[in-house]
Amino acid sequence: MMTRNWIKKVFLDRKVEKSPQVKKILDKLIGVPVEVVDGEEKIKLELRLSSDSVGESKKILFLTEQKAFIRPCPCTPGCVGCGYWTIDLDINCPLDCSYCILQRYLEEQPLTVSVNREALKNELELFFEQKRTRLLRIGTGELGDSLALDELTENSLFLVELFRKKPSYFLELKTKTAEIELLLKIRPEPNIVLAWSLNTEKMVHSEERGAASLEDRLTAATRAVNHGYRVAFHFDPIIHYPGWLEGYERVVEKLFGRIPVEAIAWVSLGTLRFPSDLLTVARRRFPESTIYEHEFVRSWEGKFRYPRPLRIKIYSELRRMFSDFRAENKLYLCMESSAVWAAFLEKNKRGRLISAFPFPWLS
Ligand code: SF4
Repeated sequence: MMTRNWIKKVFLDRKVEKSPQVKKILDKLIGVPVEVVDGEEKIKLELRLSSDSVGESKKILFLTEQKAFIRPCPCTPGCVGCGYWTIDLDINCPLDCSYCILQRYLEEQPLTVSVNREALKNELELFFEQKRTRLLRIGTGELGDSLALDELTENSLFLVELFRKKPSYFLELKTKTAEIELLLKIRPEPNIVLAWSLNTEKMVHSEERGAASLEDRLTAATRAVNHGYRVAFHFDPIIHYPGWLEGYERVVEKLFGRIPVEAIAWVSLGTLRFPSDLLTVARRRFPESTIYEHEFVRSWEGKFRYPRPLRIKIYSELRRMFSDFRAENKLYLCMESSAVWAAFLEKNKRGRLISAFPFPWLS
């Protein structure tokens, strides 16, 4: 993806000017102007004056430090959570998806990379100590793409080393890129899971600007499996459009044509959802997108979603597609209500669940 090609300026927080990690990153950005600043206020002000602050924010790199990195995934009030934890090492994303919620949450936030990784190491050690009786899943793909800036930061290598010999803690690196070259140079571990968000070719092409093609994502996943990694997939957001069923059927067929079921740790499903104020930003930035031209209902937490019967139909169809490959027990729903979950978890005649929540610590 060559992220370095589209970064047009680096702002360097004076507090981390002497950091060896800063030097390593700047050495890869020869020719890109660098300005030393005291905090991010000046950058935010510049972005605020831009006609497309979201688009501009993706071209500005801010190297800084932060105090705390780990937090429980906030999920959504009233939804069935999956017990996920997040590490916010990079904030914001150089890719540009029309449905991305960060357009709303991080409007004037440059691509922010925290270089004080030793602080993360200390925080993580304490975290492991406090949670030592539990199996946990932790990922970095909540406020950005886990690997989109990896070529610059090499954070994936740093994180994998922190999770080595910690079999109870799964590290998930979630991406829409094919940037796994660094990870292919190191020894995998069963608790390191490389994950790809997948969508139909039509949606990848029209809604996921800057992301790798579906083919390239699946090729990268195949290479990861061949190297010994476990992989995961996220069908999120599933978008309902004319031809959606055939589109997702083709993705699932392609997926299982390349990836053995045993290599898959989990697969999430989540239909398109968004807060109302995302609409203004998304419509302005992606006038050609038609994904918002649909019937939505305002759900219990204020977000817009497809009507519940349609969501249940979509999840049932996806479950059918996965059961054709005996993989339905890998599925879970992301940010869904207990009513939709109940409809999704099918029982056989004896009342036993056919689909199973794939996380033993929550079942
Ligand atoms: S890859 Fe994820 S974080 Fe990046 S723009 Fe797309 S939805 Fe947003």
